[in-house]
Amino acid sequence: MTQKNSSEKTKKVHDLIIVGGGPAGMSAAIYAARYMLDTLMVTWNTGGLAATAHKICNYPSYVDCSGFELMQKFTEHVASLKVPIAYEGVKTITKQKKSFSVITESGKEYFARRIIYAAGTNHRHLNIPGEDKYSGRGVSYCATCDGPLFRAKTVAVIGGGDAALTSALLLSEHAKKVYIIYRKSKFFRAEPTWVKLVEKNPKIKVIFNQELTEIVGDKFVTGVKLKDNAEPALEGVFIEIGSVPNTETIKGLGIKTENDYIKVDKNQETNIRGFYAAGDITANDLKQIITASAEGAVAAYNIYNENTKEK
Ligand code: NDP
Repeated sequence: MTQKNSSEKTKKVHDLIIVGGGPAGMSAAIYAARYMLDTLMVTWNTGGLAATAHKICNYPSYVDCSGFELMQKFTEHVASLKVPIAYEGVKTITKQKKSFSVITESGKEYFARRIIYAAGTNHRHLNIPGEDKYSGRGVSYCATCDGPLFRAKTVAVIGGGDAALTSALLLSEHAKKVYIIYRKSKFFRAEPTWVKLVEKNPKIKVIFNQELTEIVGDKFVTGVKLKDNAEPALEGVFIEIGSVPNTETIKGLGIKTENDYIKVDKNQETNIRGFYAAGDITANDLKQIITASAEGAVAAYNIYNENTKEK
């Protein structure tokens, strides 16, 4: 969608706007700063979902640290390069004649000739009765944030990926008992290292081939109902069933997607010239901090090359 906008002529047009402050956005910012691109980052926080990961054990040189610690290091690196950051959410992005317009939630408008869209993903919801009602009252999407509130209690983690297993391991440090409720018959998706640790943990009980139909409670969660009509009593439900990409703000741009994730070429560019994407929001398979960071770096590098050719 191309729109004429008179303010495009009068306002500052950056080389690059990075939308999102997770690993992809921050890595892009580090590379862009060193390539001396005139860059603005727009994000409501730095760290993204990675900052809520209990343990990161596969980011080279960090043998064992929390997502928060690692993202703190990324944030310090970006700050050391003095990349300007507008701390707020983005409402819409539209294509102008020679640039992109980024309108924030407070109504500010910024322009850039190129965009790296690294807005990441949000927690997927189960969409079952009781989920919204008890959100914040026993239902949580973040074991790192809320785990300590469930000391000596019984909780369930829903899902069978790395997030579910690492959350269960973290919760076992606080809770009396942790159920993992997974809809398949065995863990085929999670890292074997996490599976082994779960199997060895005496506080964790895995329930395979089961799905929740309802979360019940009074003031707070008191239990869940399962597909086979069992109703285990528990006080906390941690929903770790993957994520959905944050593509709402770019709906009007005509960007090609695959299952809602953005399709990119080897340069991280989308089908819209000048509009790049990086990190968990792309349709690339391996969704890890290291791959998100690499995608951010590749996008910044190609933007630098394009920029240089135009000079
Ligand atoms: P995944 O997409 O890997 O797993 C989601 C899990 O939720 C799957 O087991 C899926 O089931 C299940 N699920 C999805 N929808 C439903 C539903 N409606 N009802 C019940 N279950 C459902 O997501 P994660 O968040 O676990 O991980 C995302 C990425 O982040 C991965 O690449 C992962 O490796 C990475 N990660 C790494 C960590 C680490 O190593 N420290 C920690 C956390 C994440 P099914 O298997 O049947 O499809």
